Amino acid sequence: MDLKGKTVVVTGSSRGIGFAIAKAFAAKGANIVINDILVPDEAINEIKAMGVGCIGVVADVSDFVQSEEIIKKAKEEFGSVDVLVNNAGITRDCLLLRMKEKDFDDVIRINLKGTFNMTKHASKVMLKQRRGAIINLSSVVGLMGNVGQLNYSASKAGVLGITKSAARELGGRGITCNAIAPGFIKTPMTDVLSDDVKSAMLAQIPLGRQGLPEDVAKVALFFAENDYITGQVVNCDGGMVMQ
Ligand code: NAD
Repeated sequence: MDLKGKTVVVTGSSRGIGFAIAKAFAAKGANIVINDILVPDEAINEIKAMGVGCIGVVADVSDFVQSEEIIKKAKEEFGSVDVLVNNAGITRDCLLLRMKEKDFDDVIRINLKGTFNMTKHASKVMLKQRRGAIINLSSVVGLMGNVGQLNYSASKAGVLGITKSAARELGGRGITCNAIAPGFIKTPMTDVLSDDVKSAMLAQIPLGRQGLPEDVAKVALFFAENDYITGQVVNCDGGMVMQ
């Protein structure tokens, strides 16, 4: 897909990987919808300064009605929804024995149900357009599991299930659906980890450095620009997981 003038909705994109993805698509000339539970004016202004349209939609992706509003507002403002990036996500890390039911439910509700909600609403528009690209943020821990992340890894493995099923259901109408599995990327989500955890993670990365949000954004562009790739998962992890 040529991204110039297209509409790109990125959930959870007022910071971190989502904001880097929004900027990468804006640099290709796409109009951007920034969704988050808070959208600072600075984020919108930074994208607008790149010469493209940008709106912010404050909404919780785990809420079925609010998530539909994101797609409605995107269509009202820009006339189409061409790319959806399901990026919004949270962690509530804890060992299984100490994990509260709420820690499990919250992570599944936002990471997995949020991806379902947005994919359902966006695909309605994309099916009519007979065009679209859906890109889901999974994680390497959705592939290999992780101590202290049973809830998170379950949600991210579920995202891969959504990706492959949506790819099969929507492919006939020219809609692709792919997933990115980032490893250890420098964002506010990982900045809070202890130095011990950070060193242990770095020791598992053959390329010897933490990834940057921009590394992940390049994979999102790759998926959006290629119309003949669907149902795939690309790890962006410095070689942490080799399949
Ligand atoms: P981040 O915490 O910096 O950003 C996540 C954004 O999602 C935040 O702005 C947050 O406000 C928003 N958000 C949370 N709940 C929301 C909701 N209900 N509705 C709308 N927005 C909501 O995290 P990040 O590191 O940039 O992660 C982005 C994505 O990449 C997540 O899905 C995460 O699981 C995934 N990921 C990150 C890493 C990493 O190392 N940082 C690794 C693997 C996967």
